[in-house]
Amino acid sequence: MLGNNIKKQFPIFKHHPQLVYLDSAATALKPQCVLDAISDYYTKYSANIHRGIYSLSEKATQEYEDARAEIAKFLNADPEEIVFVKNATEGINLVAHVWARRNLKEACTIGLSIAEHHSNIVPWQQLVKEKNGELVYLDVDDNGELSPLLSKEGVGGGLPKKIDFLALAHVSNVLGTINPIKEIISQAKKQNVPVLIDAAQSAPHIPIDVKELDCDFLVFSGHKLGGPTGIGVLYIKKETAHAVEPFITGGSMIREVTKNESTWNTMPWKLEAGTPHIAGAIGLAAAVRFVKDIGLDNIKNHEEKLLKLLVDGLRNNSLQLPLEARGREENSSIRSSDDSNEVFIFGPEESEKRSSCVSFTVKGVHPHDIAQVLDEDTIAVRAGHHCAMPLHTYLNISATARASVWVYNTEEDIAKFLQSLERAVKKFI
Ligand code: PMP
Repeated sequence: MLGNNIKKQFPIFKHHPQLVYLDSAATALKPQCVLDAISDYYTKYSANIHRGIYSLSEKATQEYEDARAEIAKFLNADPEEIVFVKNATEGINLVAHVWARRNLKEACTIGLSIAEHHSNIVPWQQLVKEKNGELVYLDVDDNGELSPLLSKEGVGGGLPKKIDFLALAHVSNVLGTINPIKEIISQAKKQNVPVLIDAAQSAPHIPIDVKELDCDFLVFSGHKLGGPTGIGVLYIKKETAHAVEPFITGGSMIREVTKNESTWNTMPWKLEAGTPHIAGAIGLAAAVRFVKDIGLDNIKNHEEKLLKLLVDGLRNNSLQLPLEARGREENSSIRSSDDSNEVFIFGPEESEKRSSCVSFTVKGVHPHDIAQVLDEDTIAVRAGHHCAMPLHTYLNISATARASVWVYNTEEDIAKFLQSLERAVKKFI
């Protein structure tokens, strides 16, 4: 069902039949059903929402709120817990402004991991500056895992200080590690530490149940899940919502406005000021239905196979790469490629601990050069620091090449990638 069959639903492959798209961790391609849903809004009922009392506006309002309900179901949340935002970045920033700024005390300590995306670092840097607080970082171990968090001292056991708030990615966009967030959140709760989960790299790949997880906040971007750009989701747990105050104010988010005072609408609308990205929300709901129809368990199985092929292909030198392509040596550190490892694969050894992507370096070849040669073979991969500069500094490298997969990728894609990589390496070594 996945791979070649599903490719037919992605019109970009009609325009680029040779394309091997291995950059879904940056943004996923869009299925026809999403394009249709967006086009339907603009062509058939393109009115504003929540204000018109004519049928077109009522239809648009209904579709927008149905989209919220669809996304709530996807996360096992209630619709009033779902706030539409621009992307994961805006969702995290919003939590910093609408909740953390008011509820975290002066000199607070915020726990992050060293593998966070800049989106889940910079807003907290800004906040602790305001609060005279500090950030403490969890390191990753040699397998790219956050095991110190699970020490018997509980959450933050591996941290130098007790923390007041924890913000963590579900899946690292560089290491591909699936962090054990359920266990981490459960430990955090025992110590009354609120938790934000950055699900940007997990929502398209792994089932998420916010009730079971019991996180306070969770964010993801629609565009990584086959939805349009410019729309994302911020989940705020009902019990936490009372402590939230608006950041952006104006139309739609109010109940009543007098010359000098205003009162707020209820959640989630009090955080959605102005005309929202109506087509975006509707398109995202179509993407969620697309993913649900395939089934996240099927997606996970399909990707696990592809990621294993990728890792094994890089590691086993099966394509006679003129180099020794292997995984981590015993006693080697995740931080740097030792001399004997020509191809260095970052992240967990075990494929079941990995999702979304595989990042690697090849000794003597810059990741940008790899990406460029692959592009000549119509293979799209990402190269650079992937908006995770602290992790790259920690690993003592400036850049990695990253191949990431989603529903349309096939085993042939991986074979083509490995062949092209061989060509790239021959060219530069
Ligand atoms: N967090 C993670 C883990 C990501 O991979 C990304 C996107 N690369 C983001 C946050 C930010 O997503 P966006 O740019 O859509 O806001």
